[in-house]
Amino acid sequence: MNLQLNKKVFLISGGAKGIGAAISKTIAEEGGIPVFIDPSLGEGELLLTEIERMNQKALQIPTRLLHPENAREAVEKAIEVFGRIDGVVNNAGANDGVGLESGNPEIFRKSVEKNLGHYYDLVHFALPHLKKTKGSIVNISSKTAVTGQGNTSGYTAAKGAQLSLTREWAVELLPYGIRVNAVIPAEVMTPLYKRWIDTFENPQEQFDLIQSRIPLEKRMTTAQEIADMVVFLLSDRSSHTTGQWIYVDGGYTHLDRAIGRDQ
Ligand code: NAP
Repeated sequence: MNLQLNKKVFLISGGAKGIGAAISKTIAEEGGIPVFIDPSLGEGELLLTEIERMNQKALQIPTRLLHPENAREAVEKAIEVFGRIDGVVNNAGANDGVGLESGNPEIFRKSVEKNLGHYYDLVHFALPHLKKTKGSIVNISSKTAVTGQGNTSGYTAAKGAQLSLTREWAVELLPYGIRVNAVIPAEVMTPLYKRWIDTFENPQEQFDLIQSRIPLEKRMTTAQEIADMVVFLLSDRSSHTTGQWIYVDGGYTHLDRAIGRDQ
């Protein structure tokens, strides 16, 4: 299938590491131009070199999206360099463990703002450009939005809101032909996931336990498997898909809990 991303320009928040890096790379492999907004300079340089080797273009904007101004400037930079925006992937985020009992109102609000604010900001500032290209938007949420996890109120509140905004924006942007979808990962080995699993007393035991509970092939989802779905949703090959929440998780969130150990 040719995804026809040729010379199309996509913004990816947090696109230098983990799932975001796989998305940036896959966009380039399909002929598109990834503009990744991520403060990680070392990883960003490696990724740029890899993409240059494919004879493709890319740009890193080495910014952490903390304030609306950061998103506005990132959009302006992408337009200055490439003159168009064909899609936005809201991906940056971190499970920061701000719990109900262990947290407090102040850090709860900060966690929600940190994980949610820039999803709105980036699309808000990119919208005039997306209207010109009939662009596509993909929000990366998390299975914790629908399952809960415990001890992470801020992160799950933001992840749930990202799913609501996917539906809300899909409706608001119908007149412009802009599609909006969400991709929901569950267990993907990335720098963020490694930090989380390392918080357990016995990380390897916890890792083995989680893997054994993933129905399809008893393994983690790869960042590439998430990226493949995202890039399909960015492309015109998904031209009648909007407002959807797509779980790429080996059946982890939905399949029967009674599935046997020997399957
Ligand atoms: P990751 O390994 O931490 O990579 C995320 C990248 O985004 C890092 O380079 C990070 O930089 C950067 N970043 C974080 N906040 C940023 C901001 N405000 N502005 C710009 N860049 C920022 O994370 P990941 O595991 O790939 O997760 C990506 C997305 O998938 C997140 O939204 C996460 O909630 C979601 N998700 C992941 C999993 C999983 O199993 N991995 C499961 C469910 C959902 P720093 O490292 O310097 O902060």
